[in-house]
Amino acid sequence: MRRPRPCLVCGTLTRNPSRCNTHQTEWQAQQDQRRGSASKRGYGSAYRRTAAAVVAKHRTQYGSWCPGWGVAAHASTDLTADHVVPKSAGGSDETANLAVLCRSCNARKHNR
Ligand SMILES: [Zn+2]
Ligand SMILES: [Zn+2]
Repeated sequence: MRRPRPCLVCGTLTRNPSRCNTHQTEWQAQQDQRRGSASKRGYGSAYRRTAAAVVAKHRTQYGSWCPGWGVAAHASTDLTADHVVPKSAGGSDETANLAVLCRSCNARKHNR
């Protein structure tokens, strides 16, 4: 068994590697956010807002319906917006450059 060590943040003795349970959880959440955050890939919060609006609009117009990518249109509640022209190819974050697909169609599109 590991010897208790002081938490890096508050100094409370803990058997965790570097932080007490409270600060471990807090730190983990921060790391996850950093690692998982879309902004790392150049998708900031402004883009996420636009994407959410595009999905919302799609929902009101078409309902829970995916237009399909490589498959026929199908019902889906797991809709996401994605760039029509990829950012890497100079596509913008504007509504006009966003298309709605379900998560699995988006994945298919990216793996093409
Ligand atoms: Zn602590
Ligand atoms: Zn789909």
